[in-house]
Amino acid sequence: MILSGELIHSGTENLKDEIRKIIPSCRMLEEEPMAKHTSFRIGGPASALVICNDEAELAEVLKKCSSSDNAEYMIIGNGSNFLVADEGYPGIMIKLGGSFDSVAIERENEDGSVDVRAGAAKLLSGTSAFLTEHGLAGMEFASGIPGSVGGAVFMNAGAYGGEMKDAVISVRLMRPDGSEIIELSSEEMEFGYRHSAVEESGLIVLSALLRLRRDDPDEIAARVRELQDRRNSKQPVNFPSAGSTFKRPVGGYAAALIDEAGLKGYSRGGAKVSEKHAGFVINTGGATAEDVLEVMRHVRRAVYDNSGIMLEPEVRLINCEL
Ligand SMILES: Cc1cc2nc3c(=O)[nH]c(=O)nc-3n(C[C@H](O)[C@H](O)[C@H](O)COP(=O)(O)OP(=O)(O)OC[C@H]3O[C@@H](n4cnc5c(N)ncnc54)[C@H](O)[C@@H]3O)c2cc1C
Repeated sequence: MILSGELIHSGTENLKDEIRKIIPSCRMLEEEPMAKHTSFRIGGPASALVICNDEAELAEVLKKCSSSDNAEYMIIGNGSNFLVADEGYPGIMIKLGGSFDSVAIERENEDGSVDVRAGAAKLLSGTSAFLTEHGLAGMEFASGIPGSVGGAVFMNAGAYGGEMKDAVISVRLMRPDGSEIIELSSEEMEFGYRHSAVEESGLIVLSALLRLRRDDPDEIAARVRELQDRRNSKQPVNFPSAGSTFKRPVGGYAAALIDEAGLKGYSRGGAKVSEKHAGFVINTGGATAEDVLEVMRHVRRAVYDNSGIMLEPEVRLINCEL
């Protein structure tokens, strides 16, 4: 009898043979440790990490992935909201690079606003630097979020009162089978708290069109610096993490609930509830995914016992569960 694990393995090996015909070997990293690609610095190997440099390449790879039986694939951005299992991921991780790592002014509007197209692989920090240099305001809130534009759109990332949906006017996306490219308006993206329509549809973000307003570059830079200072003073930025581990529950803050349950400093192996910010589980060195999951399970139970509120993870759990 063939075990399902073996079936997935052989399906993935066949798929890798197909992808090798499209992607040069230097951009197809086999048995690639995900710890090298996540801000948590945790995670076993993906069967392959494939870097697609343009839309044509991505479409070809997606066609192969979606027509392959018994093989899985997923998109990784900057890996800053990822917890990958210690066993790794048995499928293909697709990362965008090359032409996706771009940002440019697309048009100046009559009302004085300016539309900028940012590629999915562009980091928010780099996007922010570009906008500051060009005197374009409206994305300062995102400057310190360590994600890519693609991941930030997927998550509707937000901070300090702003979120992606405030700036995004439309998103260019590819169907998960690579068959078509579509552009969805901000409304069609159904942005909600740390959520967008991409989550259910499996669409791949190629780029986002952002609407900004003109402002003095020095004032924008000052606002970015102020938010960065606030971040550095409140968050355990010197330790690997995936940011806020849990979503903000209705009517409360995860960090406050975790603090009230007396969990600051709670640790298991190398994973610990940060003493600086209870909302963060940090990797103090050598943490495994199982260490983080154990801490998360304990936190959920203890917070529920203390407050009656069940926290839901914000970090994306890849090939592992609570
Ligand atoms: C120190 C620290 C601070 C943080 N602070 C904040 C904060 O203030 N606010 C906040 O919202 N988040 C914060 N985060 C979390 C994280 O940075 C955000 O969720 C960010 O948007 C994730 O982007 P990413 O590119 O790293 O995505 P990843 O973590 O790589 O992926 C996240 C999800 O997006 C999907 N995805 C990625 N790219 C694409 C694409 N092109 N198309 C389709 N799906 C895609 C992935 O499949 C995955 O499901 C923080 C994280 C850290 C480590």
